[in-house]
Amino acid sequence: MSHSKGEMLYEGKAKRLYRTDDPDLLIMEYKDDLTAFDATKRGTSLGKGAINNAVSALLMGRLNDMHVETSFLNLIDANHSLVRNVKIVPIEVIIRFEAHGSLCRRYGIEPGLVCDPPLYEICYKNDDLHDPFITDQIAVLMGLATYDELAKIKYMALTIGHTLREIYLGQGIKLLDFKLEFGRYQPAGESEARIILADEITPDTCRLVDAQTGEKLDKDLFRFDMGDLGEGYRKLLDKLQASAG
Ligand code: 5GP
Repeated sequence: MSHSKGEMLYEGKAKRLYRTDDPDLLIMEYKDDLTAFDATKRGTSLGKGAINNAVSALLMGRLNDMHVETSFLNLIDANHSLVRNVKIVPIEVIIRFEAHGSLCRRYGIEPGLVCDPPLYEICYKNDDLHDPFITDQIAVLMGLATYDELAKIKYMALTIGHTLREIYLGQGIKLLDFKLEFGRYQPAGESEARIILADEITPDTCRLVDAQTGEKLDKDLFRFDMGDLGEGYRKLLDKLQASAG
């Protein structure tokens, strides 16, 4: 069944969400806009939205197939997907296989240090506070989530991390770290909300390098002016699509 785009519900830095005729479903639109460093750096890359839409659809589709429930339902067109309407848990979950970025800045760790087992971190999703690192206790104290929800989120995030790492390695790409967001989904007629993976899995939210050449294939290309973002993202999508047959 096709759903038409209704009122815009939310506009973020890289996406817009629209209502549909079904309150349980939304249309997600991926924009070509890029921001970094709490939106103090801004840019646009023509075609980026379509690549991210395709990458997220492919990865979330794989997770759905494995019964790791995500908000993604189906692709609509180049820049749009049909998604479940969730209430976002205001926590950013980060999984790291190697130390890079803020982990190195925070603790003076040498970039590239292997995290085995993978490191699991949670941050309070709040741009004004620069998404500060928190603990489960602080999250519960602030009423962001319950201990049960946090346990579910951790289990799902580590499962997703393992799956994504394997998918990428199969295509000669190393996943170094990534960020996830989860939501509470309570469709009409159900008495309880359940935690599902929400938001996106794209090169905007992951660090990825070519395992052979070390070439970067993610948003750091934009953050640190390291090369052509469109070319890196396109290469990534091509490899993922090859893996999907
Ligand atoms: P770091 O904490 O090192 O800055 O980021 C770790 C990983 O999570 C990176 O892959 C980065 O892209 C992702 N990440 C963390 N916070 C955000 C955020 O607010 N927005 C986006 N797009 N990605 C984030």
